[in-house]
Amino acid sequence: MELDELTLDTIRKHKDGVFQSELWKEMDIDSRKCSRIVTKLVKDGLVIRESAVSNGARTYLLKVAEDEKPSYDELLAGDMFSPCAGCRDACQPEYCGKLGDWVLHLVDLDNQS
Ligand code: SF4
Repeated sequence: MELDELTLDTIRKHKDGVFQSELWKEMDIDSRKCSRIVTKLVKDGLVIRESAVSNGARTYLLKVAEDEKPSYDELLAGDMFSPCAGCRDACQPEYCGKLGDWVLHLVDLDNQS
């Protein structure tokens, strides 16, 4: 396995992210090599890097980019997607039948649970 892939897999194992200052120790590589690999993974869009502090020292918190995908759960009422997503109608929410149906579906689901 390439070191890039191994680094990505190691970051992925940490669901809440991992500090770069801990990553190189966990992987048993030197910090400069780790920094080079992480920089490449960030540039390739595979890893997200945020400034952070760990044990009083500045470092980065690293997360796998695919874990940061947005959740669309709040746009779903059961299996019914919000009619407003992508809607191009002239919007008057208080008179919109599509929105009304979706809200009623939400209420039905809530009453069933
Ligand atoms: S309320 Fe109705 S018209 Fe407005 S965005 Fe939603 S679906 Fe479209």
